[in-house]
Amino acid sequence: MSITKNLNYLYNKISKDIKVVAVSKTKPNQDILEAYNFGHKCFGENKVQELTEKFNSLPKDIEWHFIGHLQRNKVKYIIKFINLIHSVDSYKLLNEINKRAEHEKRIVNCLIQVKIASEENKYGFDINEIDNVINFSKNLNHINIKGFMGMSTLTDNKNIIINEFSKLQNLFESYKSNKLNILSMGMSNDYNLAIEKGSNMIRLGSIIFGKRNYL
Ligand SMILES: *Cc1c(COP(=O)(O)O)cnc(C)c1O
Repeated sequence: MSITKNLNYLYNKISKDIKVVAVSKTKPNQDILEAYNFGHKCFGENKVQELTEKFNSLPKDIEWHFIGHLQRNKVKYIIKFINLIHSVDSYKLLNEINKRAEHEKRIVNCLIQVKIASEENKYGFDINEIDNVINFSKNLNHINIKGFMGMSTLTDNKNIIINEFSKLQNLFESYKSNKLNILSMGMSNDYNLAIEKGSNMIRLGSIIFGKRNYL
């Protein structure tokens, strides 16, 4: 299977209203360039060092998204160029992003990561904390909260996934506005269900680039 073929399939299948973030973590620049030459310009990474290396060596019109757990002491390395941080999961991280963005005279787009899965190892704010987080963020002038991101439980049970996605869909609907309009939900295994539940941004790795050897 080629990357171009995979993207072609997805572009034909998925509505233009849904943004595809090509998750290129662990994949070489050559693979990213194949997608880029096809016309795909939006990529997601989950490690700061890997992302900065790729940013430095790849075309500058690529739109980079950060999708993994972000350590506060590493915000400074991506703040100059990052287009969207999907994974804001603490007040301290919000403060740090705001501070660094102010220093760069930027306003940085962020999504609040919401914990919808029951798995212990998933990051994100509790759903009943979101009101506070939104209010807190209103005082941060260098952050634009653009919406929410969530990950479902890793399971074959569709009902569990649908139930988790529904929770995030309801949350999104209650905050949705012209400014807050992104729902980042769905990966290679569950993007169809996510789209049914109102997702407008899907993060696809293995279905585009093939299997990874490690996370
Ligand atoms: C790795 C990763 C993805 C993509 O996973 P696939 O199953 O390969 O599509 C999406 N979102 C996040 C947060 C990830 O870490």
